Amino acid sequence: MVRRIVVLGADAAGMSAASQALRVAARRGESIEVVALERSHHTSYSACGIPYWVAGDVANQQTLVARTAEQHRRNGIDLRIRHEAIALDVDRRTVEVCEVDAGSTSTLGFDEVVVATGAVPVRPDVPGADAAGVIGIQTLDDGARLLGWLDDVKRRRSSPCRAVVVGAGYIGVEMAEALLRHGCEVRIVDRAPQPMTTLDPDMGTLVRAAIEDLGVDVVTGASLLGFEVESHDDNSRVRMVVTDRDSYDADVVVLGMGVRANTDLAAAAGLPTGARGGISTDPRMAVRGQDGVWAAGDCVESFDRISQRWVHVALGTHANKQGRVLGTNLGGGHAKFPGIVGSAASKICALEIARTGLREVDASEAGFQYVVGRVESTTRAGYFPGSKPLTVKMLAEQGSGRLLGAQIVGQGAGSAQRIDACAIALWNEMTAAELAMTDLSYAPPFSPVWDPVQIAARNAAEALAG
Ligand SMILES: Cc1cc2nc3c(=O)[nH]c(=O)nc-3n(C[C@H](O)[C@H](O)[C@H](O)COP(=O)(O)OP(=O)(O)OC[C@H]3O[C@@H](n4cnc5c(N)ncnc54)[C@H](O)[C@@H]3O)c2cc1C
Repeated sequence: MVRRIVVLGADAAGMSAASQALRVAARRGESIEVVALERSHHTSYSACGIPYWVAGDVANQQTLVARTAEQHRRNGIDLRIRHEAIALDVDRRTVEVCEVDAGSTSTLGFDEVVVATGAVPVRPDVPGADAAGVIGIQTLDDGARLLGWLDDVKRRRSSPCRAVVVGAGYIGVEMAEALLRHGCEVRIVDRAPQPMTTLDPDMGTLVRAAIEDLGVDVVTGASLLGFEVESHDDNSRVRMVVTDRDSYDADVVVLGMGVRANTDLAAAAGLPTGARGGISTDPRMAVRGQDGVWAAGDCVESFDRISQRWVHVALGTHANKQGRVLGTNLGGGHAKFPGIVGSAASKICALEIARTGLREVDASEAGFQYVVGRVESTTRAGYFPGSKPLTVKMLAEQGSGRLLGAQIVGQGAGSAQRIDACAIALWNEMTAAELAMTDLSYAPPFSPVWDPVQIAARNAAEALAG
């Protein structure tokens, strides 16, 4: 009997799992049937590239598609686009499927099922949130909608488009750059005291100053109350963002308010979820307590190796790796997802922002006593043309000296990728003193003779020594 595997959600995690399962099973000489259901029009595309496509760095949306539906089918996956899984019955081994365009439903049986339904963007429950021109950014269709809307505003207005980004996380700041590149007057509004709450507030302050230098108005400590709309052709379009601090004119609003794990289907099927709202899996990406049920990507929780806690971190880097691990096991091999340390990078124009490990608040919550090492340095040797300011902050545990986290804000190329040296150090439980003396490369076009990461580590080691 050929095993039938049904994959729910056909993007990063789902299709990594499907492709890897087929490869591993084939290597073992087993033939499996893989059916993948995707409710949208798209499969295997880079949502991460959407801000750069909207900005104009990437020519068109096709460029963001890593593998088309046709390519997946040629590789042996029965990929059904515009098919939504509307109910999952784990005991009966069936999925209820709705053909979105036809509206018809049918039942599909499976031997094993993969839940890879991703995350849903937070959409505020405030008046006017459904008005035209209020656009969340998650899918290629969202990117196309925003580009169309910007063209429309350009046709209607002789003066620059007034754009408000609600949410100053990494998607918010990346979209702010895209809007600047369209000639918009850009304002970012967030309820937190500083942008980029994935950093400590002192590093967020640096981000704020640099974003303001780009001409973006940054409004913080402002909670969204709603959107004022104006009517046109029987429709309403956004004209103002209303917060508890003030109201702001807006021809377009981009929402970057974060995401939550998309677990509605899984929860209704009785699959276990954790405190952070994601599906609970073991390191093989098997759903806990459920035979033949697997999950990966933005819909699951991940184990944080530093805090030793389960967290929900919705990033493509994890979705792809988890999908591959899942597919290996599903295909009959053995693999484990080893957890995360919380590395992420982002940019707005020349400003690069990166983080790994714990912020001060996370370290305190996890019960660590820590010291901080910090340095203001440069991206290249100070005398080398193009050298730009760069700040690195590092946390190390009192007593053991083990690194707990690092954050980087730099004004030039090469800033953000330095976080990878820190991530490797965290992953391997290195101390601040060890990182300070690690043999990293040096040449003037790439770094000062002491790399800023190593100076921050050295400063942390000195703080530990008292
Ligand atoms: C603008 C933007 C920029 C980003 N930048 C980065 C970055 O720089 N680095 C990074 O690591 N990550 C980034 N991410 C996050 C990254 O894109 C996601 O973490 C990744 O796509 C998650 O993959 P996934 O397969 O788990 O979920 P998704 O990509 O969300 O795929 C889930 C799929 O399931 C489908 N689906 C859901 N429910 C059903 C159902 N019931 N039936 C059928 N289909 C269903 C959805 O339509 C969707 O296609 C970015 C995301 C966005 C939106």
